[in-house]
Amino acid sequence: MRFGCHLSVAKGLVKTAQEARSLGLECLQIFATSPRVWRQRDIPPQEAAAFAAACRKAGLSPVAVHAPYLLNLASQDQKLWRHSVEALAEQLERAHLLKAQAVVVHPGSRGDKPLDWGLARVAEAVLQALEAARGPAQVWLENTAGGGGHIGGTLAQLAELRRLTQGRAVGFCLDTAHAWGAGYHLESVDKARRFLDRVDDLLGLDAVKLWHLNDTSQGRGSRRDQHQHLGRGLLGRDGFLALVCDPRLAAAPGVLETPKNSRWADRRNLAYLRHLKKLCKLSGS
Ligand SMILES: [Zn+2]
Ligand SMILES: [Zn+2]
Repeated sequence: MRFGCHLSVAKGLVKTAQEARSLGLECLQIFATSPRVWRQRDIPPQEAAAFAAACRKAGLSPVAVHAPYLLNLASQDQKLWRHSVEALAEQLERAHLLKAQAVVVHPGSRGDKPLDWGLARVAEAVLQALEAARGPAQVWLENTAGGGGHIGGTLAQLAELRRLTQGRAVGFCLDTAHAWGAGYHLESVDKARRFLDRVDDLLGLDAVKLWHLNDTSQGRGSRRDQHQHLGRGLLGRDGFLALVCDPRLAAAPGVLETPKNSRWADRRNLAYLRHLKKLCKLSGS
């Protein structure tokens, strides 16, 4: 597995790419601007080009843009749904401008509507956004902890979204903390390997374009999601060891979205992953 982080762009895009380089990252995720507002500032083309050049120089691949949390591609509210489709198209264009490969987005909440209705709604939103946006950036749908009517809590739901968007620029992102919150076992090497087998059977590992490597402070099956530093949450070490060492994920990108509560937090979590990689041989993987 190749490691990266979600980094803040608060100090500017080019500084972010430089920070990624100094952390030795191999892949990167950012918010193209603020994650909690609809109206986002335009990125000057020169700044976007400088960012893309700095990412290339740092060897970052992929670079992914995480969509704002306000989007709800499954919304019952037609106005919010339409707004979300437009915002996703805008994020895709931003990704294209930044030469990022994809926009990572949560499928959204269907509220009290039936699951099939919600899945069709998300697929329609993704197809319309891809149609409206210029450029080759893909949509990568992220799994969720599944609470509050949120789509994407099970691999079967993601598989159905794959079927509904077949042939289009759609991939998937799997977050370990969300999978655990949704009820999947990841707490031992064997269980994490079995999880990978299920991912391969139901969704196809080829469809998983990005991993989010987060521990969590919420219980398995709690349908809640609160990221924690690696090694300090309920997932523990061995599930991450299995993912990091599995030959099926040898070239897969894994991004940390762990808390940033000290200036050393990213370095410590990256060191944790790099240490696990060294243990692969010892653990027989
Ligand atoms: Zn996410
Ligand atoms: Zn995530």
